[in-house]
Amino acid sequence: MSDTPETTEVATEVVEDQGPSFADLGLPSTVQRVVDEMGYKKPSPIQAQSIPPLLEGKDVLGLAQTGTGKTAAFALPILARTDAASRTPQVLVLAPTRELAMQVAKACEEYSKYTPGLKVAAVYGGQDYGTQIRAIRGGAQWIVGTPGRIMDHLKKGTLSLTDIKAVILDEADEMLRMGFIDDVDWILGHAPKERQVALFSATMPKQIKHIAATHLNNPIEIKIESKTATASTIEQRYWFVGGAHKNDALLRITEVEDCDATMVFVRTKQATEEVADFMKANGVKCEALNGDIPQAQRERVVDKLKKGKVDMIVATDVAARGLDVERISHVINYDIPFDAESYVHRIGRTGRAGRSGKAIMFVRGRERRMLSTIERTTRQRIEEMPLPTAKDVNAKRRERFKATVEATIGNEQAVMFKEMISELVNEKELDVVEVASALAHLAQNGIPLFLNENERFRPPQRERTERDGGREGRGDRPQRERAPRKDAADVSTQAMPLKDSPDVDMVRFRMEVGYQDGVKPGNIVGAIANEADLESKFIGHIEIFDDFSMVDLPDGMPETVMSKLKATRICGQPLHLQVAEGAKPVNRKPPSGRPAGGNRRPGNGDRRPGGNRRPSGDRRPRRDS
Ligand code: ADP
Ligand code: MG
Repeated sequence: MSDTPETTEVATEVVEDQGPSFADLGLPSTVQRVVDEMGYKKPSPIQAQSIPPLLEGKDVLGLAQTGTGKTAAFALPILARTDAASRTPQVLVLAPTRELAMQVAKACEEYSKYTPGLKVAAVYGGQDYGTQIRAIRGGAQWIVGTPGRIMDHLKKGTLSLTDIKAVILDEADEMLRMGFIDDVDWILGHAPKERQVALFSATMPKQIKHIAATHLNNPIEIKIESKTATASTIEQRYWFVGGAHKNDALLRITEVEDCDATMVFVRTKQATEEVADFMKANGVKCEALNGDIPQAQRERVVDKLKKGKVDMIVATDVAARGLDVERISHVINYDIPFDAESYVHRIGRTGRAGRSGKAIMFVRGRERRMLSTIERTTRQRIEEMPLPTAKDVNAKRRERFKATVEATIGNEQAVMFKEMISELVNEKELDVVEVASALAHLAQNGIPLFLNENERFRPPQRERTERDGGREGRGDRPQRERAPRKDAADVSTQAMPLKDSPDVDMVRFRMEVGYQDGVKPGNIVGAIANEADLESKFIGHIEIFDDFSMVDLPDGMPETVMSKLKATRICGQPLHLQVAEGAKPVNRKPPSGRPAGGNRRPGNGDRRPGGNRRPSGDRRPRRDS
């Protein structure tokens, strides 16, 4: 089904083995014949449910997505009720756009091909009135058009609603979105009171509910859960990944959002473990859920989530299938889903049982297309959200701290301390606030309550879920993006002399690992010292960038050592160590006052001019490109 283009076939598989056949619906033979010829085997769910009441002349309020077969759902029964012998407008179909109006008109013509004498007139903006007036006067029983133009005709007197027996509002929410709702209201207000109305909409905003309440008469309500339908009770946002690691972002977001339980979706089994470990290490009651975990244990994890013993689950799509836990307030798409359908499945884990839910998706630059595909398929806008700032987090922590203290007052075990604290306060004549503050400090056990609001995020580290997903999953992701040349050009290729051995010739090397890979100076020193069997004092200046690093090493290292180093990996990534382009050996003494040698990296702020502009916590000599 998923490789079937959605515009050419309707989702009928749901009723493949059950539900009525077209023959059961009681359609006249003129209509039944078209259905047979068109190769429709079974009515789609919206058709099966709408056709009988519409045939009986009842009003219908249908909630269904595009591609569910709505046109036939109203066209077939209403055609059956149209008097083709009478040549006045009897059926009015309102559609949001010219394209949709044309499409519906064409489909209705097709469905009416064995109904002799039946004519359909399409009436929309952008076409001359003359043609349309001729079509209307030519005896069309069906008028299909956009609200604006229909209203124009009504006002001009070139169209009369006197004999209208049925009005169909197709894609009502779209008409609302396009600003036609007042026109729709006006048109319905001018139609005969005894008409039948069918309203179809993918979503039910309150204005549409209002239209239904005003103009529909005891409608039969039909709701079709489609595979790409997202509940309107789920607030959807995305965060554009940049500047911070997804793990840090996840931590901040879940701290600032009022999360009850959170489902985090990643692409690989390994990522479920890694993200869950990170969250656990940061004090979140979190568990991984993936296909490798035995069924019994998976059930235990879900049970813990239900009971509140776990607040976050990091899962793959497969492992989370069908998971139904009411307290899930948030779904985080840590890795973007593979398609719109899995997005719908994922976010459907929240907003259960009529509650509201929130969905947040992490989107990288190259994933923007998937974002818009999802928006188009679900027909819902996903708003961009900023990453909560340290200030936001602190505000939350302050709030929560106060709430926790307040909630603990009167706690049985806290009461035990009462006497002792009063004693202390009285004996030493202390201020209660001072005492409480001291206790709070003790309770924090040395862990700062607040984030440093001046500190920037730690630099992005290796995004293993992304790459691993690419490798073992679809294979459509580049293995690794090399640092663009222009970055490298900004970087000095001039080695610095060693502090303790300024006479050793040093050469600057480039390595294809950087902050994105999670590399720290210690990793580089360790790897090189081990692989090259080189004393660490001979490893010179190290500078780490986003996706590459520079290191100064003694000139003339034996070829065997060099080839070993080239094959060495740091944080799982091969170094591809090579002499930095344009590098020359140096061994001059450092000019006085210049920080030199060792593992000291420039950019620590304190030593270089203008360094104080850099927050001290930011240890990266990274150039923001
Ligand atoms: P919607 O208005 O809900 O978006 P359409 O009425 O445009 O859906 O139908 C979508 C496609 O499905 C059309 O190509 C239509 O011919 C086809 N279709 C409709 N009903 C059926 C059915 N019962 N079986 C197979 N295909 C169908
Ligand atoms: Mg349609």
